Amino acid sequence: MSSPALQVHAFEPLSRSNGPGKRAVLWVQGCHLACPGCFNPDTHPMDAGTSLSVNEVFEQIKEQEHLVEGITISGGEPLLQPRALLGLLNRVKHETALSCIVFTGFAWGAIRENPRLFPLFQHMDVLIAGPYRHSERVAAGLVGSANKTFHFFTDRYTLNDFSQTPSAEVFLAADGSIRFSGIDPVQW
Ligand code: SF4
Repeated sequence: MSSPALQVHAFEPLSRSNGPGKRAVLWVQGCHLACPGCFNPDTHPMDAGTSLSVNEVFEQIKEQEHLVEGITISGGEPLLQPRALLGLLNRVKHETALSCIVFTGFAWGAIRENPRLFPLFQHMDVLIAGPYRHSERVAAGLVGSANKTFHFFTDRYTLNDFSQTPSAEVFLAADGSIRFSGIDPVQW
């Protein structure tokens, strides 16, 4: 059975602030969790972004395989598109040597009560779970707030690998435009 299309917000071919080592980053479009203080509100509308087939997204990732050690999937809320996400994770796991880290705003307690999501965990290395809570903001490494929990499904990484991740990075494009990735260091 073919996967549905994936609603995509943005793709960054090479980042250093979205997990261990150099990584490609996929931000999916659509999130209804409305965490107060969310640093990526442009990703919230479910009908914005670009609809791409799993194959189109996979080919973008595959092109980076010689430059990065893995893919990080963030959002938006990846778990709101479970079938497309599973199709993509399945291809990354079986057709590349890339590691896979997924962010979700759902708390682990809610996730583990939803068996429909369990197949996803067989195709990722790490899930970082939990809503952003402004009152518990830490903005260190990949952790926006202290309630976030790490779930390791393979032995590829340990918590220590994530402690080295820079909190943010700035991209300066050839046309002079500036883009930002990671946790906003000046938002309080
Ligand atoms: S889950 Fe993520 S994208 Fe969604 S509102 Fe919370 S911080 Fe923002």
